[in-house]
Amino acid sequence: MAEISDLGEFGLIDRITAGFPLKNESSILGVGDDAAIMNFGEKDVLVTTDLLLEGIHFDLRYVPLKHLGYKSAVVNFSDIYAMGGTPRQITVSLGVSSRFTVEHIDALYEGIRTACEFYGVDLVGGDTSASVTGLVISITCIGDCVKGEEIRRDGAKPTDLICVSGDLGAAFMGLQLLERENRVSADAGKDFTPDFSGKEYILERQLKPEARKDIIEALRAEGIRPTSMMDVSDGLSSELLHICRNSHTGCRVYEDRIPIDYQTALMAEELNMNLITAAMNGGEDYELLFTVPLTEHDRIENIKGVKMIGYITEPQLGCAMITRDGQEFPLKAQGWNAFTGKV
Ligand code: ADP
Ligand code: MG
Repeated sequence: MAEISDLGEFGLIDRITAGFPLKNESSILGVGDDAAIMNFGEKDVLVTTDLLLEGIHFDLRYVPLKHLGYKSAVVNFSDIYAMGGTPRQITVSLGVSSRFTVEHIDALYEGIRTACEFYGVDLVGGDTSASVTGLVISITCIGDCVKGEEIRRDGAKPTDLICVSGDLGAAFMGLQLLERENRVSADAGKDFTPDFSGKEYILERQLKPEARKDIIEALRAEGIRPTSMMDVSDGLSSELLHICRNSHTGCRVYEDRIPIDYQTALMAEELNMNLITAAMNGGEDYELLFTVPLTEHDRIENIKGVKMIGYITEPQLGCAMITRDGQEFPLKAQGWNAFTGKV
């Protein structure tokens, strides 16, 4: 194990930024000067940023640093895709406390590098500082989009279909599992080995989420232009409320159309949690939620991994879920700490 203080700030920066060759035409100058240089010609430029604090956004007792690096980068890419753009560059700023070694930071950057390679993004800068409060990671992502083709949250219209990619609630169930195993292992001491067999999918959804670049490409290939779009980071209910508030509409979604994986359902049962509540409010799914005109129904059916879950209404009808037995429940942005009641 190497002490970061032996390398010094510049040694550490050289080490972590080596192995990030520039891939994008828009990346003119990367790490090494006072600022990076980018040129996007006639394109619109998109910028998003995220701050992650140890103990608030991640827990290193059960999140490997490599996964943390991967996820920190991917959640930013997801924001750019959710605007209909393409992520091109990131800057990564770190606050590192003295309990971290050079190898820890290497592992974090290995994850960041894997994400950058897979999604074709360049690391072009950052900042590095000592910290007294654990690990702090701030990532800014820059992307581009054909001028005027961004997909915002405010374009949904009554009768539009509401669509969502993939399945929901798995990342939340993965987190519940990790937290439970962490509690059990703290009680059992050294001899404890968690058994994750048959739960790989929900763990992967929590630890190594992906941004839905493939869905953006499929929509483009089908010539479908969503009227509104966002990624599901805080939970479907909360995101639907955002779209409806910004678009001045209401919505109806059907309980029996919410996509849920088998492992998510099993885990909810094992932990005695309401499955639909978890799928609607769990968050960290990084799936795409979007609306399309009703006339796109047949073309949406051609896209694998997208499900139509409801429709947009006039604003006075409010936002509600229709249960299996036909009852309507208003959508609420419950967040993650209200998992006791029924929907
Ligand atoms: P400045 O004094 O201008 O803040 P630094 O000495 O902090 O510059 O950084 C030198 C170069 O290394 C800059 O190009 C900066 O963007 C980059 N850099 C610093 N820290 C990081 C990091 N954690 N990850 C990636 N690049 C970094
Ligand atoms: Mg600096």
